[in-house]
Amino acid sequence: MANNSYKIPVVGKTLEEILSSKKINDTTTAWDIYQRFYKDSILNGFFNIIGFCLALDIKVKWDTDLNDYEYGYIDTTEKTIYINQNHSKTSQIFTIFHELGHFFLHKGHGLKHRNQLFYSLEQKEEEEMANSFAAEILMPYDDVKSICEQQQIKAQEELIQALLSKFNSRGISRVSRDTVVYRLKVLGFM
Ligand SMILES: [Zn+2]
Repeated sequence: MANNSYKIPVVGKTLEEILSSKKINDTTTAWDIYQRFYKDSILNGFFNIIGFCLALDIKVKWDTDLNDYEYGYIDTTEKTIYINQNHSKTSQIFTIFHELGHFFLHKGHGLKHRNQLFYSLEQKEEEEMANSFAAEILMPYDDVKSICEQQQIKAQEELIQALLSKFNSRGISRVSRDTVVYRLKVLGFM
């Protein structure tokens, strides 16, 4: 048990079932994938996120050679996500889920996740999808909705702060202000 304590239990389905094209279709959401692989559905630490990747048979490594504007990338042959060691933990967490998004949504994607200025229009669309995938896991719709519908929260800034404290509890900063604002806009709450 001790040797495998980093492994997240797979819920319900086998890895092969999840990764087969029959199981991943147009209606499969990032959250579906996350729930199937993450038993308690709670992100309670950076290393549990790496454990989640390991449950998907994907390794996470730090790359010291990336430039400041490069967040990371996924090597789908090696099944390894490389993240920029010099970025904040919050940024690294987002990057891991962003690259997982490419893994599930864009098979064979080998691009580095750079600043969007460097992308073509088509690539920008893929980047948006990967960002949505990451945001969906980090800020589940039902949780966001219930906070947005609280009557006592009226000002926009209050809402942002409420969401930041909701998703950054337990001593680890999982979502940035940018991610909160992005998610609110995508869901039409802002
Ligand atoms: Zn990307």
